[in-house]
This record gives sequence, C-alpha cells and structure tokens, in this order.
Amino acid sequence: MSPDPIGLIRLSSPHMSGNEMKYVIDAIEHNQVFPLGQNVADFEEALRSYTAATACSCLSSGTAAIHLALIILGVKPGDEVLCSTFTFAASANPIVYLHAIPVFIDSEPSTWNMDPNLLRQAIQERIRKTGKKPKLILLVHLYGMPADIEGIMAVSKEFDIPVLEDAAEALGSTYDGNHCGTYGEMGVYSFNGNKIITTSGGGALVSANKSLCSQATFLATQARDEAPHYQHSQIGYNYRMSNICAGIGLGQMEILDERVAKRRENNSFYREAFQNIEELTFLTEPSRRYFSNYWLTTILINPAETGINHEELYHHLKQHQIEARLLWKPMHLQPIFAPYPSYTSGVSESLFNQGLCLPSGSLMTNTQREYVAETILKAITKVQPKTKALSAET
Ligand SMILES: *Cc1c(COP(=O)(O)O)cnc(C)c1O
Repeated sequence: MSPDPIGLIRLSSPHMSGNEMKYVIDAIEHNQVFPLGQNVADFEEALRSYTAATACSCLSSGTAAIHLALIILGVKPGDEVLCSTFTFAASANPIVYLHAIPVFIDSEPSTWNMDPNLLRQAIQERIRKTGKKPKLILLVHLYGMPADIEGIMAVSKEFDIPVLEDAAEALGSTYDGNHCGTYGEMGVYSFNGNKIITTSGGGALVSANKSLCSQATFLATQARDEAPHYQHSQIGYNYRMSNICAGIGLGQMEILDERVAKRRENNSFYREAFQNIEELTFLTEPSRRYFSNYWLTTILINPAETGINHEELYHHLKQHQIEARLLWKPMHLQPIFAPYPSYTSGVSESLFNQGLCLPSGSLMTNTQREYVAETILKAITKVQPKTKALSAET
C-alpha cells in the first residue's frame, strides 16, 4: 500500500462541537455524576423542543429505547411485530427479548423503507393465518431517509395497529416538515458513536403522549413504585442515560442542524462527482415531502456496467484507507431471523447485493471527499471496456 498523506477516512466518526466539556465539567463540579441530573433533564428538553414532540425520555441506548417502547406499547410473548426487514439487527433484537415474533416486511424501491402495500398484505395474511392481529408496526427510517409515512400511517389506521418509529439514523430528517420519530405512538433516536450526533452511547424515546415517556423513565430506573422503601410491582431495567453522556448530548444539540447540513452537502458532492456515471445510482428523496439527514450516502453499483461489484469496490476502498460499508443485510436473510415469517419482494435483497455506504461523516475534509470520489472513479473506469486498451498498456 502506498503511503497515504490523507490518513484513514472513516465512514462516520464522532464530531464534537467543542462545547461538550462545559456541560460535562458542570456535572462533575456539581457532583452530578449519576443518571438523574440536570444535563439529562436539559437534554430531554432540547430533544423534545427540537423534534416538537410532547415528551422525551433519555436512555442508555437506542436498543434500550426500542426494548422499553415495545413493553410500553403492550407487546407480550407470542405477539407479532411487523418490522422493516431492511435494517440493523438492533431494530429486531428487542422483539425477541420479549419472546414476541418479528414478521419482516420488505422495502419499496423509492425510499428503501417498509413497503406500505406489502405491509397491508402481510397484516391481512397474518390475521387469516393466526386469527390474531399483529400488535405493532416497527417502522425504520434507514440511512436517514424518511419512509412513506403517509402510506404506512394509512395502513396503521386501517387496521388500528400502532406504529413505533425507529429513527435511530434519522434525527434531523423530516416528512411534510415534521420530524421522523414524531408520527408514530413513540419514536426512537440513537446517539451511538457513529450516528449524526453522539453521546458516546445513548438513546431516547419521544412521544406526543407524555405518559408513555414517563413510563419509559420509570421502567428505565428499576420500576420503583412510590413508597419510602423499595417497592416493585413491575419488572424494571437499568436503562437510564448517564448525566455525563447527556452533557455531551447538550454540546451536540447546539450544532445538530450544522451536522445535518454538512451530511447533506457530502451527499450533493458525491452526486455531482458521479453525475456522468450512469452505473452508480443514489438513494434519493422521492419528493419534496421527504427531507433526509443523509446520515450515510449510499450508492448502488451496476456490476455489469462497471465491471466491479459493490463488494470488490468495498475491498478496493479499504486498500486505499477508505472505510466504506456494505448495506445492512436484510433481517429475513440473517441466520438468526430466517425462521421468522417474512413478506418479501426481493427489493431489499437486491439493494443489499448492489449497495455501498460511502464515508459520510461531518468531519470529512474536502480533500478527503475528493480522494474518495477519485478512488471510486478510477476503480470503475479502470475496468470499463472502453478504457481496457489504456490499462493494458501499463
Ligand atoms: C444504531 C441503530 C439502532 C440502535 O441504537 P444503539 O444506540 O446503537 O443501541 C437501532 N436501529 C437502527 C436502525 C440503528 O441504526
């Protein structure tokens, strides 16, 4: 490998505002080094007001948020939960924690997210087959792209099945001007290290229903009933966000919109760089109703046209110190989830077999971005038939 003056280019690294320390030091100086401090309260208020939700509960991770939301929305052992198949395993794992049954629904080609028509078919068939209505729709907004919320909410209404939004990747994304995560009964955000903003690790639930978030906070702090002694009438969890982490979150909230703008700008940059390459296509906002934070810029590669497939390109980039990532492998194709019911159209599988996430972090410099684009363009044109003669000379 040739020495590289640019250094390793990460897929999506944390990006501090510089103000995080102020809040962290404040917590330490006031000896608020525990979960229920002022930073947590302030971070909850900042998230609530940013998303225009009614209430917010900050938790130890996005996964914990999904777990608690499923409990609060009444998912019990044996219940079926309709879940986007094209997602990260953290969306589906908590369904199984509860001994409930994930039923995976394939994507539509335009948003890559849950296909409302397939969802309707699945619900009708589940009712026919099991005699029971599925309990919940777990809708993911993948890579920051809002799902067809109108289509999904119509099905939710038609069958009276509530929606839980996994907006872990979609903080800052909107649909019809409203934030992803605020359409369903509850919405989930994640502040893991690679997300659009981070608390090193953390998550949150938002809702228009204050009592749902209060229940989350209650369950997350070991479900202690109001009593002078420790009394419990429900099983609790230790899922509360640390006051130190919330301090980082407060520093991050100050620049969230800048981070969204930068990721969108990265996306525009790649589009422009590849505008003449028909064999590379992008996940694109289907209409002006959709506003994606473009957490990660994702492309599809047509190997017949480029002579290099997504996996080869991934390895090629790795050799050039560029961290790309293959798309999420759909849940219905994962060994652990394959036995569960699924309603598929081939869309997510086909995306998985062509797609790549490009370095998309807000810390990336212009030089780094250009280097990524150049490396991809070279890899593609090198093997194109029309330039074969050229590369054969060397
Ligand atoms: C990151 C992520 C989660 C989980 O969030 P954590 O904070 O890492 O637990 C859930 N769903 C999706 C789609 C994610 O990308």
